[in-house]
Amino acid sequence: MPRKPKKVLIITDFDGTVSTVDLGNEVITKFTTASLNDIERAYVKGKIGSRIAYERIAERLKGSRESMLEHILAKERLDPYFPEFCSLSRDKGIDIKIVSDGLDFYIDAILEKHKLTGIEYYSNRAVFGKDSSLSIKFPSMNDFCARCGTCKSSILKSYRLIYDRIIYIGDGYSDFCPSRYADVVFAKTVLFQRCEREGTPCTLFKDFSEINNYLINNY
Ligand SMILES: [Mg+2]
Repeated sequence: MPRKPKKVLIITDFDGTVSTVDLGNEVITKFTTASLNDIERAYVKGKIGSRIAYERIAERLKGSRESMLEHILAKERLDPYFPEFCSLSRDKGIDIKIVSDGLDFYIDAILEKHKLTGIEYYSNRAVFGKDSSLSIKFPSMNDFCARCGTCKSSILKSYRLIYDRIIYIGDGYSDFCPSRYADVVFAKTVLFQRCEREGTPCTLFKDFSEINNYLINNY
């Protein structure tokens, strides 16, 4: 009897990965009204997670959705091989989910701009107030840990029952945790350094052309 083909899922980070520019940082740098050095220091040292960092940053953020989107759309640079990655995955019956510890409004705008609106994503949610204030909601938080805004590990684990193989692609701090639970990891920058240090097998990548070659050669 022929073997059932393996069901494969690719989970990818957004900022710094799908978008080569970290758009969360772009918003935060441009629209905060006071220094964030104290929050950044605590986050990078691991003293606080992204959820607390976001709550503190939101108090110092001011701007309308329109002004933030205008800035984002001027700054964004999609990985040039990402659209090909999407069609290649579709042709091979491989599903894609984006997991982001960034904000929904700019992910929507970027996917729409590049006509990639069919991709499901998980992220934090920005709620704009009338007075240019901003609050951030965490629909994909893990209540038991509550460290990250979006718990990428919980999302990955929730797909374990449906998929035989899970490939993870990422670059940053919020990717440390989920990369431990994936079957295959593609990593760059700080994620690559962390995987190397912890002994998590991973492949260094520069852009999605390398992922595309991997899919062509393996599926
Ligand atoms: Mg990232």
